Amino acid sequence: MAHSFPYFHFYSQSTIIFGLKGGAEGRMIYANYHTHTMRCNHAQGTEDEYVEAAIASGMKILGFSDHTPYFALPREHYSGFRMKPEQAEDYFNSVLRVRDKYKDKITIYAGVEAEFYPKYFGDLLDNFRRFPIQYMILGQHFLDNEIGSTYAYTRTTDEVLLEKFVKQMIRAIDTGAFSYVAHPDLMEFDGDEKIYAKHYRKLCEHCLEKDMALELNLLGLGGGRHYPNEKFFKIVGEMGNKVIIGCDAHSPAMLSPGKTLDRAMDMADKFKLNLIDTIELKDPKKIYFEEE
Ligand SMILES: [Zn+2]
Ligand SMILES: [Zn+2]
Repeated sequence: MAHSFPYFHFYSQSTIIFGLKGGAEGRMIYANYHTHTMRCNHAQGTEDEYVEAAIASGMKILGFSDHTPYFALPREHYSGFRMKPEQAEDYFNSVLRVRDKYKDKITIYAGVEAEFYPKYFGDLLDNFRRFPIQYMILGQHFLDNEIGSTYAYTRTTDEVLLEKFVKQMIRAIDTGAFSYVAHPDLMEFDGDEKIYAKHYRKLCEHCLEKDMALELNLLGLGGGRHYPNEKFFKIVGEMGNKVIIGCDAHSPAMLSPGKTLDRAMDMADKFKLNLIDTIELKDPKKIYFEEE
């Protein structure tokens, strides 16, 4: 699905991508599905400011995907980087309000970024049946069920952790609830490169099989984090996985990534990434999950 310039042009299995306006105006992102709001306690800006920034940067599709409330997490566990269950209604109302307000200028989707926590995931999906949610992206920030477990954005040489992280994402993908995988390379495995490749390759193989896109995350790239990791995207390039660029915007300004987007494009060229510019959204309301 190619769009007329100045957006990305892409051809099957190749990555000839260019923003024809180039120069001063730079490249543009056609669709970004990874946008936060203030409710997660570590983002800033109003919904209107995000939408106006997206329009100004030339986007045609903006998906809000704030850190999901996790309704069944015990109340005594404070999960401070996500909205609270009681904020969900206001969140979806706000997204629907801007979706309507700006409908002539941009298409807006209401989603969340969610971890897959087997113990609480069925309940999460059930709770969402009463909200106008349109999609979920997988952002596996913790292992297991979060409580007392390992933060996935960690640097480790422990193969057990890497294997667990990858397996949990594979199980998540198999639920059918997720539309793409955000920062799939979040865990920084610093040990043997063969072990790194072995496990991350499994993830890529699975994604290929399930036609699941992987995100090249601009927050990590612009913030000097280890991800998007070259070791990971080398594998992705070899495998030919679909790759979508995600701003992971925690402020309206992050919807105009400028030089960070140029760097992402350099990475895409270097590893011959199979970039796509839109995602077919999966409806999480159709999914039922029960822990085995
Ligand atoms: Zn965040
Ligand atoms: Zn995010």
